[in-house]
Amino acid sequence: MRITVFGTGYVGLVTGTCLADAGHEVMCMDIDGEKVARLKRGEIPIYEPGLEALVTENVAQERLRFTTDPAEAVAFGTLQFIAVGTPPDEDGSADLQYVLAVAKTIGEHMEDYRVVIDKSTVPVGTADRVQAAIAESLSKRGADIAFDVCSNPEFLKEGAAIEDFTHGARIVVGTDSRRVESLMRECYAPYNRRAEKLMFMDVRSAELTKYAANAMLATKISFMNEIANLAERLGADIEQVRRGIGSDPRIGYHFIYPGCGYGGSCFPKDVQALARTASQIGYEAQLLNAVESVNDRQKTTLFTKLNQAFDGDLKGKTVAVWGLAFKPNTDDMREAPSRALMEALWEVGARVRAYDPEAMEECARLYGERQDLELVDARDDTLEGADALVICTEWKSFRTADFKQIATTLKTPVIVDGRNLFDPAMVREAGLLYFAVGRGDSL
Ligand code: NAD
Repeated sequence: MRITVFGTGYVGLVTGTCLADAGHEVMCMDIDGEKVARLKRGEIPIYEPGLEALVTENVAQERLRFTTDPAEAVAFGTLQFIAVGTPPDEDGSADLQYVLAVAKTIGEHMEDYRVVIDKSTVPVGTADRVQAAIAESLSKRGADIAFDVCSNPEFLKEGAAIEDFTHGARIVVGTDSRRVESLMRECYAPYNRRAEKLMFMDVRSAELTKYAANAMLATKISFMNEIANLAERLGADIEQVRRGIGSDPRIGYHFIYPGCGYGGSCFPKDVQALARTASQIGYEAQLLNAVESVNDRQKTTLFTKLNQAFDGDLKGKTVAVWGLAFKPNTDDMREAPSRALMEALWEVGARVRAYDPEAMEECARLYGERQDLELVDARDDTLEGADALVICTEWKSFRTADFKQIATTLKTPVIVDGRNLFDPAMVREAGLLYFAVGRGDSL
């Protein structure tokens, strides 16, 4: 099949590359000329395990190509995936300007039947707006060409995007058209062999499914953070509580790790967007609002703990930070807890020495100008001259450490661990003060 994908971000590039790898002919279009130029040179603008090799291979096989030319992109594929960003608007609702701009482009250039597929995360009712935008562009040209719009939300996670795309639990397609169903079956056939993963449903249900999935996962995290905060104040250990409840198959172990709040490009904006959708139709989404506010508070805990450890006197202190990405195996720092911490530290006049295995370039792009940030090349180099250590991301390479060495290198023996990586007894044995999340050490 010939397929066009609009947007070469995490979702668009992974979708286009995986579909090409499955034997389809794919053209990826982006309005960001620099990104496309890099991709054409074989450089991958994002870090995603396994992606670079897959892009290189499929470009070499001439199944995957890149363009900035909208006419060429629309002419290429019968299937036109929209995988552009849907960032939060000022009021938290999803900003659809990029999605609708693609719809307009498709309407302006299409000459034959096209299936337009919303892969971006979009509020319920967006397929109708995409339909209307294409129809308007067509009518301005005086053209009468058939097309369909369907919803195909993406459930991949950054850091495991290829595995999720190729071996995901389900492929949701929202459509009421038999023709679209048959084309989408053909598109996904390579990923639908072992078991039937394709779920066809109406468009609105498909659109809501994506928000419901993310809101459920975010709810689990905020719930555990709430219990962790209680555990801390009650002298209980949330890690033991986690094991105690996770063993119940009705609860399970997934997504019940307490921490310093969820970040990334999806959970914060999707929970917010769903809550705004609710309020727009006059329904107060009490639980969603609480999930969001618990998370906002949780993101402040690292700073609060550190500030208390230093009796409110962090001015002029240097803080070593391990982990900048919002989670391991990605370079993405959107809404990362590390940012809330660093910005709070800078606000009170503290300095940061930070390291992340993948997000250093991204951090330099965001904060490179700052004099009170130093990015260092190795994890333990952050400790030189630092007053305390804070762990923001649970990278595997942070899970073991020489606590004696840390204790002697830091000017003050303080670790604030936002991911509960260590056994508190072992850390304290080395003479360190250890403040984790929900572990009975209520500072
Ligand atoms: P991203 O910001 O990484 O990439 C979006 C890309 O779209 C950018 O390269 C941008 O230049 C491009 N773009 C903008 N307007 C365009 C246009 N008119 N034509 C062509 N390209 C255009 O975004 P992302 O993280 O890939 O997310 C895309 C969508 O997928 C969002 O709706 C997001 O919520 C959803 N989603 C993201 C993830 C994730 O883990 N990142 C997972 C599931 C779903």
